[in-house]
Amino acid sequence: MTGTPLANQRVLITGASSGIGAGMAAGFAEAGAAVLVNHHGQAHEAAAVVRQIIERGGRAAEAEGDVSRPADIKAIFDAATQHFGGVDILVANAGIQKDAAFTEITLEEWRAALDVDLTGAFLCAQEAVRRFRRQGLDPSRSKALGKVLFTSSVHQEIPWAGHANYAAAKGGVKMLMETMAQELAPEKIRVNAIAPGAIQTSINQAAWGTPAARRRLLKLIPYGRIGQPQDVADAAVWLASDAADYVVGATLFVDGGMSLYSNFAHGG
Ligand code: NAD
Repeated sequence: MTGTPLANQRVLITGASSGIGAGMAAGFAEAGAAVLVNHHGQAHEAAAVVRQIIERGGRAAEAEGDVSRPADIKAIFDAATQHFGGVDILVANAGIQKDAAFTEITLEEWRAALDVDLTGAFLCAQEAVRRFRRQGLDPSRSKALGKVLFTSSVHQEIPWAGHANYAAAKGGVKMLMETMAQELAPEKIRVNAIAPGAIQTSINQAAWGTPAARRRLLKLIPYGRIGQPQDVADAAVWLASDAADYVVGATLFVDGGMSLYSNFAHGG
């Protein structure tokens, strides 16, 4: 996509201090949006993301806050209002993994993953929709009243042994997204998701950090390379822009073909 398809728009990205969120922050700024960079306890990293955007002539600001805490969410959205006058796009991206074999998952680990990956996404989306309504439609910004984009995962579809809490949360995000999309489309609020495959970030360093792990991972990716945050950012910018105005309730898989049951390529 060329030009500035998100000129005049304001995006709030949760968990934007690293990995996919940081890549999306840069991509959305490049596309012309003002970017509110949320982080949780990563002030240094978030400041660097903001600084890089500003150095390239973009607009950005940061706001600390835990997406699983309602009071923090209000403060994050208030920061977007204070800096940019409002929010047109929410990217509910913050996520964690608390991996363990099924019988070893503690209640604390179960709740931590569900709290951030599902409840945090729900709380941010709810606040975004309330604010979209208060702001009203502004055709000089977008054809839609507002857009919500979830960072889901291929594991909203692919079962994942050793990660029951994470997979359950992302499966929940899928139905949250689709139900919101159905309920809110008549108000011209577009709700969609991106399902990344294996993207090279800190969340999955164990999967690509050694040559042996990398070889094992590449066997799962028909396209033959590990994804980068920019792969996700490019797709997200399109999905949030008016070029995707008729895309409602969709999950866009950005996974190099990981979800294509690659074991069936040579048999089955
Ligand atoms: P990451 O660890 O680099 O980034 C996660 C971000 O979420 C960080 O900025 C972190 O500070 C933030 N965060 C964590 N807890 C938070 C909280 N309570 N409140 C606010 N922010 C919080 O990992 P990533 O790979 O960039 O992950 C981003 C999203 O992408 C997650 O939802 C993850 O599930 C999803 N995802 C990643 C991959 C992958 O291969 N990397 C694949 C599929 C889905």
